[in-house]
Amino acid sequence: MANSKYEYVKDYETPDKLPLDNWIVVRIDGRGFHKFTTKYGFEKPNDKKGMDLMNAAAMAVMTELPDIVISYGISDEYSFVLHESCTLFERRASKLVSTVVSTFTAYYVHLWSQHFPELPLTLPLPTFDGRAVPYPSIKRMRDYLSWRQVDCHINNLYNTTFWALIQLGGLDAKAAEKELAGTLSADKNEILFSRFKINYNNEAEIWKKGSVVFRDYELVEPGASVDETPKMPVNLAEVEISKTQAEKEKKRRAKARITLQHLDIIKDDFWERRPWVLS
Ligand code: ATP
Ligand code: ATP
Ligand code: MG
Ligand code: MG
Ligand code: MG
Ligand code: MG
Ligand code: MG
Repeated sequence: MANSKYEYVKDYETPDKLPLDNWIVVRIDGRGFHKFTTKYGFEKPNDKKGMDLMNAAAMAVMTELPDIVISYGISDEYSFVLHESCTLFERRASKLVSTVVSTFTAYYVHLWSQHFPELPLTLPLPTFDGRAVPYPSIKRMRDYLSWRQVDCHINNLYNTTFWALIQLGGLDAKAAEKELAGTLSADKNEILFSRFKINYNNEAEIWKKGSVVFRDYELVEPGASVDETPKMPVNLAEVEISKTQAEKEKKRRAKARITLQHLDIIKDDFWERRPWVLS
């Protein structure tokens, strides 16, 4: 391609390659969704159709980007974890974030009518922001996910109690907020149980735990076997083999069934029982 005298402007681009060997988390969040969910009359505190739509968009993102190994969604946000060995877009943060955000947004809009057939989307359309954060170890990346799942629990307990006070207790928002100021988890559980006969433990898992999306490795093709772990390369020939292995691994990931579940991802159990998720 011929150079032009204007090409120097390319040098103004700032490098934003994320460090090697880090797990990359891309988190997206709906812009102004307090207003957006009110406009479309989402059930409070938790609208199932709205969450199903978020989950469907996230599953589509994972289908299109096999580098994503697991995702976690609550409310209007979704976190996508890219494998530490990811080489997509040379790990450039802006490319990764913008691709995840636009893919998610495109599917959210595309799938809207399937989840809300009676409510056509009108302006302003739903949009999402996004950021990428590199985590230098599995421990840090898992702590990130634990942070989001603890947030899910805290917010959901608060919101469930807040809306019970309004919908069942007849309080207005201001009074409900005042009632809950300074309360601990145990107090909220007690308010729910003694005043509204609600046992928080019996609330649906989707709201208590959030949504976890990962690859199941029950391969779509019946009878296909799961590959053995690749061996450590010891010479150049084997380095080549390991590259092919990596390609195979990527293809295997792309083919695996994507599953949505509402599980505890804070404890070791989830990860120990599914070692392939981070392999
Ligand atoms: P910002 O643009 O800063 O993110 P926001 O209005 O989106 O502002 P958030 O902190 O992201 O604020 O909160 C998301 C809002 O969307 C909350 O008010 C939450 O109740 C609402 N929301 C998201 N998903 C649902 C759902 N499935 N059902 C009911 N409400 C929801
Ligand atoms: P990448 O994902 O790396 O951006 P790409 O295929 O999008 O890959 P670009 O360098 O962005 O590659 O080039 C955009 C391509 O889209 C070109 O091949 C261009 O010819 C085609 N294209 C874009 N707009 C139009 C248009 N209006 N009419 C015809 N072709 C178009
Ligand atoms: Mg916010
Ligand atoms: Mg938001
Ligand atoms: Mg949010
Ligand atoms: Mg282009
Ligand atoms: Mg292009």
